[in-house]
Amino acid sequence: MSSLLPALETEPARTAVRFGDQTLDYAALSAAARHLALSIGGRAGRVAVWATPTAQTAVSVVAGLLAGVPVVPLNPRSGERELAHIVADSTPGLVLAAEGDELPEPLAGLPRIDTPLRVPEEETAGRRVPLQPSATAGPALIVYTSGTTGAPKGVVLSQRALAATLDDLAAVWEWTADDVLVHALPLFHVHGLVLGLVGPLRRGGTLHHLGAFSTEGVTTALAGGGTMLFGVPTMYHRVARALDEEPELVAALRGARLLVSGSAALPLPDHQRITAATGQHVVERYGMTETLMNTSVPAKGPYKPGTVGQPLPGVDVRLVDDDGNRVEGGDGETIGEVQVRGPQLFTEYLGKPDATAAAFAGGWFRTGDMATRDADGYYRLVGRRSTDLIKSGGYKIGAGEVENALLDHPGVSEAAVTGEPDADLGERVIAWIVPADLENPVGAEELTDHVASQLAPHKRPREVRFRDTLPRNHMGKILKRELS
Ligand code: ATP
Ligand code: MG
Repeated sequence: MSSLLPALETEPARTAVRFGDQTLDYAALSAAARHLALSIGGRAGRVAVWATPTAQTAVSVVAGLLAGVPVVPLNPRSGERELAHIVADSTPGLVLAAEGDELPEPLAGLPRIDTPLRVPEEETAGRRVPLQPSATAGPALIVYTSGTTGAPKGVVLSQRALAATLDDLAAVWEWTADDVLVHALPLFHVHGLVLGLVGPLRRGGTLHHLGAFSTEGVTTALAGGGTMLFGVPTMYHRVARALDEEPELVAALRGARLLVSGSAALPLPDHQRITAATGQHVVERYGMTETLMNTSVPAKGPYKPGTVGQPLPGVDVRLVDDDGNRVEGGDGETIGEVQVRGPQLFTEYLGKPDATAAAFAGGWFRTGDMATRDADGYYRLVGRRSTDLIKSGGYKIGAGEVENALLDHPGVSEAAVTGEPDADLGERVIAWIVPADLENPVGAEELTDHVASQLAPHKRPREVRFRDTLPRNHMGKILKRELS
């Protein structure tokens, strides 16, 4: 059986994780995780992890993998209602947290273990603790979706799926043991947890976690040896806006090997600003909790900003029309639903066999995301079927395309596009705008003219609604269902 994290055994002296002034090499991480694995093994069917951005979370997750007990990472900032939902849904028998962390009500009744950071090697020597998690098909992580379109769903992921997706990414990003990954992502979703934590550990490289995002933190970490940066679009947006004022940030980004964005679309103006100032291309990848990673722009290009690149080596991707027929695509125009197949797919929605069955069409997972494909096999996401596909006057309009056109106008800071019922058109296009200058907002007609000058006339918003902010979740994704 192949192992998931070989470096736990083979690279004792290399740095595994760094969180603030806490640094663990692979020997220390392995010792602490094995010690903890001994305490949790056999005590719980599933174990919850209070996933603060700390080295303890890294130890807890590795311990769960070693013990073969599925880990449910919890967002320490979620409200009690959301936590109660996740606890009731996943029924963990135990919670792991750092010493001193106070746990709120829905967790207070659970047995708790404080995660150790430093454990003398003698403590576990001679006891029967596995040295290695193995990449099998059993449940390893239960990760809740971001809750962008509804209540978060518990997604069961196997070690085998984690290994498959991480090896795919290593191939297209040329990710090796020499890479030091810098990020400030939360450790309770796929992006920060699977790619951002298990990712470097699988390669035998290093995670340098910033704790909280700041452009100064990115500068210091990249200048101090970081080679890759992972982020969500809201972080790259802040980077793009800071470039004029922070020459050290520009220099640090220039020195990085790879910048990666995902979880939501990175607006074209942010791509362009970063490339103009640093010469770097932000590489976008597309994935989901259920599918792990599906496509990416390769590290060495061609880049095509605004696309999410090509299928990863082990992943089959197809586009399908409303009747379930394959769309030929290849023209960069025809929109279809993205469906995927491959060893990186999830096992099931926890406790929801009907939802799991409904999510598949003959072995293909229906992502609910809509995209086009160009002649080079690059996919461009145009939005989600449920919220972003607007049917107006007999046309299908992807919200993402109109959003990009709006963001291209200097008077626009943030944009979201939705459809609303319309007696004539079926649906009409509505633009929600945070103006760049809140005091002197750009005119509505100027914006709709701007869209019409860039896109076909039927894509022109019929109405523009100005707001001071747009509702977003903790991954920075716009919550369209809350726009009103
Ligand atoms: P929920 O399923 O609870 O509504 P969610 O779909 O946002 O929430 P995740 O699994 O975290 O939960 O996110 C997956 C979704 O994120 C994808 O289906 C896609 O819509 C979006 N996404 C991921 N990467 C990108 C990207 N590079 N560009 C655009 N959208 C992306
Ligand atoms: Mg989803």
